Amino acid sequence: MAAQRVAEDVARGTKQTARVRVAVRLRPYMHMQDQKGEGACVRRLDTKTLEIINWRNATETLQYQFDVFHGEETTQQEVFLSSVKPILPHLLKGQNASVFAYGPTGAGKTHTMLGSQEQPGVIPRAVRGVFNLVKAKERELEGWDYSIGMSYLEIYNEKVLDLLSPSAQDLPIRENKDRNILIPGLTHTPLSSFSNFHSHFIPASLNRTTASTKLNQRSSRSHAILLIKVVRTQRNPPHRQQIGKLYLVDLAGSEDNRRTGNKGIRLKESGAINLSLFTLSKVVDSLNAGGGGRVPYRDSKLTRLLQDSLGGSSHSVMITNIAPEYTYYFETFTALNFAAKSKQIVNKPFIRETVTVPSVQVKRSREEQEAGRSGEP
Ligand code: ADP
Ligand code: MG
Repeated sequence: MAAQRVAEDVARGTKQTARVRVAVRLRPYMHMQDQKGEGACVRRLDTKTLEIINWRNATETLQYQFDVFHGEETTQQEVFLSSVKPILPHLLKGQNASVFAYGPTGAGKTHTMLGSQEQPGVIPRAVRGVFNLVKAKERELEGWDYSIGMSYLEIYNEKVLDLLSPSAQDLPIRENKDRNILIPGLTHTPLSSFSNFHSHFIPASLNRTTASTKLNQRSSRSHAILLIKVVRTQRNPPHRQQIGKLYLVDLAGSEDNRRTGNKGIRLKESGAINLSLFTLSKVVDSLNAGGGGRVPYRDSKLTRLLQDSLGGSSHSVMITNIAPEYTYYFETFTALNFAAKSKQIVNKPFIRETVTVPSVQVKRSREEQEAGRSGEP
């Protein structure tokens, strides 16, 4: 059995050509997160590189390089255009894609994925984008009919829960003979338009947030996964059908809850979060290393679920969110080591100045933060 599984994984390994693109997004500096008034410990150098102070040696700075680095002035639109929009057309050809936001609680994952009414994030922009692509295809009259649908689920404590049918119990994850991952029993809601999506998704995501304040910030300890499915069917015989899946994932906080001393969290819960994020990091590393070695998808529910949408012929982006304040230093450092393509130690002290953002913009983004500070959107 084990041997057979290894053989399958090796066979699968030969097809694994797709890398996971890694983008890093630095959120603006927030006074309220910096009670000692120490300023920022991270700053942008260019579109791929940032530098962070080296706490072990103040005469050194660490420089990290990624596929893309989004500095604190980057808008929601720019993040969408650079990291997400280019992958959407693949869904209409029956290929899968995934976008996930990684990083410690408070660094901007939900802002990036969901955003607010004034600054909508990746999720509303991507769904609108899929509807627009489908409309354009239908105008081309190339003989295919398209339908769009959604599912919305949460992985909490290694349990798969349906957010569109909250009474449901832990759902199983299965793989069919074509290697597609399925969740029998998961609600699938057909969508007729973007506003139709909005009316299903917003109440469900608000449900999740309201529950979270009662249940001790559960939303920062679970992975919220929105699935948008595009099915295209040939109008004439043989009526071929192709399915493209897009996963949009707001991951649990990457902070080590045991180290940060969050007493409200039972050991089992922090173990489950750490297991799935740790496995995700191993999967991303192993895909990006190439070479076709075994990819440990089966080691956690999260990676098992994303298996057919990570690697292989799919298109994936991980947006690592980080915060600039010293309070976050260790979490930032850990997240960067996971996300970086390369790291360099530079022999000069960290420069304490804000060079990337003109003061007017800093002021405005702070005001926006104050306006939107009412907790998790
Ligand atoms: P997370 O989901 O990672 O815990 P949030 O998305 O809730 O973090 O962000 C924490 C706070 O910072 C929120 O008030 C959010 O509005 C704000 N924020 C995060 N990223 C940005 C950004 N790029 N621009 C402005 N405000 C941001
Ligand atoms: Mg959040």
